[in-house]
This record gives sequence, structure tokens and C-alpha cells, in this order.
Amino acid sequence: MFSLGIRKVVVISLVGGIFLLGNAWFVVNWLQENGLIGWADGLKSTYLTPTAITIIVILMVLLVRPRGESAKLIQRCPVCEHTIIGKKHYCSDCGSKI
Ligand SMILES: [Zn+2]
Repeated sequence: MFSLGIRKVVVISLVGGIFLLGNAWFVVNWLQENGLIGWADGLKSTYLTPTAITIIVILMVLLVRPRGESAKLIQRCPVCEHTIIGKKHYCSDCGSKI
């Protein structure tokens, strides 16, 4: 069993640890409010202008655009204009060859 003295030490170190954690959180908050967020905001306004964002979005659209086979997954029947999904040789609506 712990003696009263050791229990006091445990309680004091617990309180001290919580106090330090609270202080650490305060320091992190202070850094975010005064340092990191300001730095990130400066970076954003310097490099992430609307023009740059537009160029990035266009590049992403061009990169993810489907090529070749996937673009042919949706086709239309030349006879009845029925939309055919997938690689089929005959129209499911009128039965004509595609
Ligand atoms: Zn058809």
C-alpha cells in the first residue's frame, strides 16, 4: 500500500502533468494563432491565387478524364437512339446491330 507521502507525490505530479498539458495546449494554440496560421495564410495568398487554383482544377480534370475504352461504355443505338450502357453488340430496345 502507498503511504500518505507517496500518494501526495502522485497527486501533485498528476496535477502538475495536467497543468503542463494545459500549458502545452496553450503554447500550441498561441503558435497557431500567431505563427503557423499567419504563415499558412501568407503562403496561400502568395501561391494559391484564383488563377493558380483554376489551373490546378483544369489540370486535375484533364488527368482524371476517361480515355478510350471507358468513354465507349455509354453509346447510342443508331436506329432508335436508345442509350446502351456497356459493351453490347445489339440494342436492348429495338434489337438492331450497333
Ligand atoms: Zn435501338
